[in-house]
Amino acid sequence: MMSAMGKLLVLAIGAVNVVAQTHALGKLDDALLEWPLPAGDQRYAAIDGRHVHQYVGEQAAISLEYRDQGHPKFWGRIIGTSGDARDAEWLAAKFRAIGLADVRIQPVPLDPQWMPRSWEVSIRSGGKVLNLDSAQPDYGANGTSAELDLDAVYVGLGSEADFAGRDVRGKAVFTFSELGMKPEGAVKRADQKGAAAIFEVNMLPGNLRYQAYPSGTQAPAFTVGSVDGYAARDLIAASADRPARVKVRLDVERVPNLKTALVWGTLPGASDETIYVIAHRDGWFQAAGDNAGGVAAMIGLAEYYAKIPRAERRRTMVFIGLDGHHNTGPGSGAGRRWLVEHRSELFDKTALMINCEHPATLQTYAYPHYQEERGMVWTDTVLAQQWYAGGPSRPELQAITVKAFHEFGAPLDLDPDPRPPAGDLGQFFRFLPGVATSEFYQYFHTDQETPEVVPWTGLEATTRAYAKIIDEVNKLPLSALKRPPEPER
Ligand SMILES: [Zn+2]
Repeated sequence: MMSAMGKLLVLAIGAVNVVAQTHALGKLDDALLEWPLPAGDQRYAAIDGRHVHQYVGEQAAISLEYRDQGHPKFWGRIIGTSGDARDAEWLAAKFRAIGLADVRIQPVPLDPQWMPRSWEVSIRSGGKVLNLDSAQPDYGANGTSAELDLDAVYVGLGSEADFAGRDVRGKAVFTFSELGMKPEGAVKRADQKGAAAIFEVNMLPGNLRYQAYPSGTQAPAFTVGSVDGYAARDLIAASADRPARVKVRLDVERVPNLKTALVWGTLPGASDETIYVIAHRDGWFQAAGDNAGGVAAMIGLAEYYAKIPRAERRRTMVFIGLDGHHNTGPGSGAGRRWLVEHRSELFDKTALMINCEHPATLQTYAYPHYQEERGMVWTDTVLAQQWYAGGPSRPELQAITVKAFHEFGAPLDLDPDPRPPAGDLGQFFRFLPGVATSEFYQYFHTDQETPEVVPWTGLEATTRAYAKIIDEVNKLPLSALKRPPEPER
């Protein structure tokens, strides 16, 4: 039976493909391992994972709406688009409903933004034509001025050895890569050797559409799902005497005069010392893990603290929905840069900044060696997260963080990262006490990064752990957390 919360979620997102997946033994939502609240921490029961997860679904719905408004292939909550504007309004409305003060949308102007308008890729040989529908241009890829019609060449993993004896000049190059494998620089290598178009096949099970960060190549570069990629490879193999041919067309624009926004909300506390909670709003496709989950955790924290009397909140809390960073390149991270430029006004009395970024990811497995036919295997639990908590000069903050995550059953890597994982604390951690935990994995930046791959249990555990960290930090004076700024290294 569907819970009231589940019904709300379905209503909020409409009849889209984000309804909980059914497995042999029931719904994923109900199958997930739950962690009992430790004795003495009952107050954190107010942070309810199923409730917070609604906000993941609502953000995914904003992406899907944008997709359905004439953007079938390059879609999401993409900076500078109408989807971005809608998302900012959505978050500001949440902040207002919670009762935060000074809720505002601060416009941030953008450099011209890369927008692929349309593209087509097909491969043909011996009368057979295959449309590579999963092909997705790498972010910032150069367009083609006209349709290209090229010989296809296969270079395997794309190491120097794979290229040996192959002439790729002016050709369409197919290379393969798998998550976790040593990066071979195959795309860049193909470009340097004169390829006219480059296709990097993502070897994860299925036919994932994957949005890659910039490859910085002259030749247009695309990712391709493995179903399409293996079919293309086999067509190349079957046409040894006369090369398979690839048609490729990519129409891109750099759109000027767009803007994005920082979304602010404040919860005044008993002092003017501050705790910041940030989360980037942007993302590709449904962007459930990266970063609807983070934004949802931020909202969950705002809700939780808004219900606590002001006198019991030692410090003022500031919540910021960041523009984000997926628009890599000039103009990326403009909102964060604005914050850094205003650091003396904003962060002089900051005891803590929590960056909510990819806070909960379903544990999945691919077993390509032994059990290829199983595809992507889903489990009933969450991935451990990478983490950073103030670095080695703040052992107290590290201990608080580890203890909080342990108590709520939110798994962490045994050792911290030397720098914050993911992106958005990277601008701040050298001059303020920051906490970031993050994991993403196999569905990251793909069209299958749906709300389902963000388990409500993990979202609950991480959000509760963040609250516990805030409460423990609020027992410490500012002097216990402040450090001289670290130099850039
Ligand atoms: Zn992210």
